[in-house]
Amino acid sequence: MNDARTQELSEHLAAVEQRIVDACATAGRRREEVTLVVVTKFFPVADVERLVGLGVQQIGENRHQEAAEKVAELRPETRAALTVHFIGQLQSNKANAVAAYADVVQSLDRRKLVGALDRAAGHAGRRLAVTLQVDLAGTDARRGGATPDQVPALAADVADAEHLDLRGLMAVAPLDSDPAPAFERLARLADDIRANHPEAGWISAGMSGDLEAAVHAGATHLRVGSAILGSRPSLR
Ligand SMILES: *Cc1c(COP(=O)(O)O)cnc(C)c1O
Repeated sequence: MNDARTQELSEHLAAVEQRIVDACATAGRRREEVTLVVVTKFFPVADVERLVGLGVQQIGENRHQEAAEKVAELRPETRAALTVHFIGQLQSNKANAVAAYADVVQSLDRRKLVGALDRAAGHAGRRLAVTLQVDLAGTDARRGGATPDQVPALAADVADAEHLDLRGLMAVAPLDSDPAPAFERLARLADDIRANHPEAGWISAGMSGDLEAAVHAGATHLRVGSAILGSRPSLR
């Protein structure tokens, strides 16, 4: 495909890439330390095909029904070229569905989900990479996530699970406040977890509006949607 939409996506991707390059330079980090996950929720499978044609290798989806349908519609070559990250609220009764199409589950936040996801992965004959979603906001926000004090036990559970590979931590910055201190807290918690789980080196943080702060705090994965695909109808 090489239509006007492809051109638009190409320009947006280039602009985001430049922001990442600049943020890495400012932070004294190498560009290769940071993986861009393009969040394609609300956008059609044709956009995923366009993005893969433009070199995108990682996509994120946060609504499991939509994600399942979209991944199933991808051309086999496209699917084979992609790592699919599930980044939405996970429910244990959806674990089987998610384990069937996701390569990475970024949003594991409850011990109860570990067994469900592990069994689901085993059932699907797959291994799943997992990051633990941390709630950086405290009590107010309903954006999901384990509280920081719950994370060590959750990490131990995932590390012990037969079909899951613990990779690190994920968080969404609290709404309406400076993301930098929240991302710094996440980075310190990631250090603590890595002391016991050296394989858990990922820090997934940073979206369209705050990717610079995330890169500065040490993020290894950015989840960028609207800056690349455009604005979407508001969630919920
Ligand atoms: C939608 C979403 C993103 C992307 O947000 P943008 O602001 O559009 O870049 C990142 N992370 C999660 C968990 C999301 O649900």
